[in-house]
Formats: sequence, C-alpha cells, structure tokens
Amino acid sequence: MLEKILIANRGEIALRILRACHELGIKTVAVHSTVDESLKHVLLADESVCIGPAPSTESYLNMPAIISAAEVTDAQAIHPGYGFLSENADFAERVGDSGFVFIGPTPEVIRIMGDKVAAIRSMKAAGVPCVPGSDGPLGDDAEENLRLARKIGYPVIIKASGGGGGRGMRVVRTEASLINSITLTRSEARVAFNNDVVYMEKFLERPRHIEIQVLADGQGNAIHLFERDCSMQRRHQKVLEEAPAPGITPEQRAAIGKRCVDACVNLGYRGAGTFEFLYQDDEFYFIEMNTRLQVEHPVTEMITGVDLVQAQLRIAAGEPLGINQEDLTLRGHAIECRINAEHPKTFVPSPGRVNLWHPPGGPGVRVDSHLYSGYEVPPNYDSMIAKLITYGDTRESAIARMRVALSEMVIEGITTNIPLHQEICQHAAFQAGGTDIHYLEKRLGI
Ligand code: ADP
Repeated sequence: MLEKILIANRGEIALRILRACHELGIKTVAVHSTVDESLKHVLLADESVCIGPAPSTESYLNMPAIISAAEVTDAQAIHPGYGFLSENADFAERVGDSGFVFIGPTPEVIRIMGDKVAAIRSMKAAGVPCVPGSDGPLGDDAEENLRLARKIGYPVIIKASGGGGGRGMRVVRTEASLINSITLTRSEARVAFNNDVVYMEKFLERPRHIEIQVLADGQGNAIHLFERDCSMQRRHQKVLEEAPAPGITPEQRAAIGKRCVDACVNLGYRGAGTFEFLYQDDEFYFIEMNTRLQVEHPVTEMITGVDLVQAQLRIAAGEPLGINQEDLTLRGHAIECRINAEHPKTFVPSPGRVNLWHPPGGPGVRVDSHLYSGYEVPPNYDSMIAKLITYGDTRESAIARMRVALSEMVIEGITTNIPLHQEICQHAAFQAGGTDIHYLEKRLGI
C-alpha cells in the first residue's frame, strides 16, 4: 500500500479522501491556499503546505507548487479529487514525470476523453452507443454540412470538441441558421478553448442524464457499479442525484454496463470513471466520459457497499481490482442533495461565517461536509458546502429520509439552497421519478 498521499483539492472532497487514506493507514498531506488554512481536512491532515494565495489559478491550479509540496513532504502519490486539475492530462503527466503516482488514469486516456471528437470515436470503436451525428469534425464545406444536418434531422446541436462545463454548444432548429451557427460556435470555441474543432449531433429534446460508474485496474480487470440518474439540473449543473435510475430494467442496466466495461478494457482504463449518457425513448447515447471521481459518487457507494475512494487508492498502489461483476449486488436506493451556499431562488452565492452547523443523522443518513460551527466559507471557490445523502430499502423511504434530514439540517449565518431541495422533494413529478433534464428549469420558470 502507499504510505503517504498528497490531496490536491479542498472542501468536502479533500476530507472524503483524507478519511479513506486514514482508514487504510495512509498518511496525508493537505495543500491549501492562504484563505483555506482552517479547512477541516487541513486541521486533520498529518502535514499541510500552503501553496499560494486565494485565487485557484495561483494555488489549486498551480502545478509547480503542488509538485514541490509533494517533494518536500516525501509523498508518493497525488489524489486530484474532482474539478481543479483532476482532468488535466498535462498535470497527470508532470506528476508521473516527477516520480509520483497520479491517482487516476494515464495522461493519454485523460487526453482522449478531454477531446470530445476523439472520445466519441474511441467509444464507437468499443461499441458504446453514441448520439447520431457527424462522426468527426465538421469541415468548411457548407453544402456538405447542410446535407449532413438534413440527414440527421433537425434540431441538431453544434458542439465544440474542446468544450466543457456546458459551454461551447449551440442548438440549431432550422436550416436557415445552420451555417451561421457553425461559424459562431467555431469562433467562440477558438477563443474559449483554443481549439476550433466543432462537430454535429442530433439534439435530443427531453433526455434524462444517466451515467455509469466504473472501476478498472489497468491490468485487464474492470467492473461497472450500476447507474446514477442526474437529470435534476440547473444550467447543466447537477442539483440532486440518485441511484439507481428510476425505471431502468435489470436487463438495460446489465447491457449498458457491459458496454462500458468493454470500453474500459479496450482503453486500458485505470481507476474510477464515469460514462455519461443522455437517455431518451429507452435508448442510451454516450456524451462524455469523466476520468475522475465524481461529486455524486456516494449514492453509488450506498447501493453497492463499495468504497470508491479506497478502491482508487488500492488501484493506484498497483493492486488488482479484487471485485468481480458477479460479486456486486444493487441494494436499495440512495439520493444526494448538493447543499450550496447560495440563495435558493436567485442562486446568488452567499459566502460568510457559519455561526451554527447542526447536521442531521439517524439510520440511512450520510453527510459529506467540511463545515463546522465558526467556519468561514470563502467567496473564492465553488459554493457547494455539503452533500446530504440518504439511503433506504426503497426510493420512497430514501425520499422520506431526505425530507426529514433536510428539515433537521441547521446552517446559520449564510443562506443555503436547502429550501429548494425541500421543494423538489414535495414535487409529484420527482416523487414519481424519471423527470428529464429540463424539468427543474421549467418548474423554476427559468
Ligand atoms: P460538457 O462537457 O460541457 O458538460 P456535454 O457533452 O456533457 O458537455 O453536454 C452537457 C449538456 O448539454 C448535457 O448534459 C445536455 O444537457 C446537453 N446536451 C449535450 N448534447 C446534447 C444533445 N445531443 N441533445 C440534447 N442535449 C445535449
């Protein structure tokens, strides 16, 4: 096993990783910005290093500072968490070149998945179903592009190959606006992503977002850990997630899971990863792969009993996977609410001092959070301050536990989106399950 790991992240996920390390007897190094010295995981870590000022470009995205922190503390491996440098192939490469283990896949695989055209190509080759589309970059021949869109059928969506975070996409509903839209998306992509490659896909009108969690050891063994439904979104940001996805049959689950497992083996994938799909009319369509741990990983842990972070650490240490597909059983239902420091209606961030923190508890309730009474939420980073996860034998009991847990959760001093989650839990459509990705925005009237 590894002896000492540097955690290149902050907040709840840094604490989550620290706990997994300590459970396995691994020592931890926390790195933090100047405004983060009183983060809970920094206080609990075996060692800590300040890597720069508050702006993440100078701290959590500062590759040389993070690598020198690993050097001075003699850490063996670096866990990137999610966000920040977690999907940066250059970082993974520099970590490896400096003699440390990057806890994640190889730089080559990260690079392929960071380029959407390349990712779709490799998925098609592995037999993963994709959205009907251009099968590669769009050229400059207007006639050819018009022909292609006609063949796919309107509406279509023009997407930047280097895009991310819901940016670099444009829906086209009529032939009259196609050429102009391609030109616009291309020039925006050139500025935003320094990559003007764009491609075309069929635009699905009312899909759900369903994703498959995988684990692979890079030694030929891979498993899927069923699916999550993350359709409850606002501005392409997930708000509430659950596992399993309502209405998915065991046969569908096994079939799509198998495709993802085969793709992992094909790619030589190593570590935890997620295949994201749009799901409509009983069909799955691959949109992208995340080559890292995800925010919503706890719902999968609750229904499988697998600790995904410990699995990442074991794989990084070179251990074979040790879990077979047949060993896994899906039990019960789990829901996660992302608790953000923001106004529940305007979504304006609400940083500041948490005067009182009182997390809920009881059977089937899990709280992943770095909060404590007196903690000051800085304005510099993502507004997520806690994840509230509930588990039950059935979806109904998980929802009932969520309702009670939300009513018990006390966060004083700052404004949070707890009321939004309480409202969602009351919606008949949510209770019925299977809402599409536009549901929440329509319901909010935005
Ligand atoms: P990003 O990397 O920016 O998150 P994705 O390819 O994952 O980009 O797409 C983000 C979101 O855009 C999806 O979750 C979905 O809401 C929407 N989207 C992308 N492609 C399509 C499509 N072909 N049809 C309908 N919606 C789409």
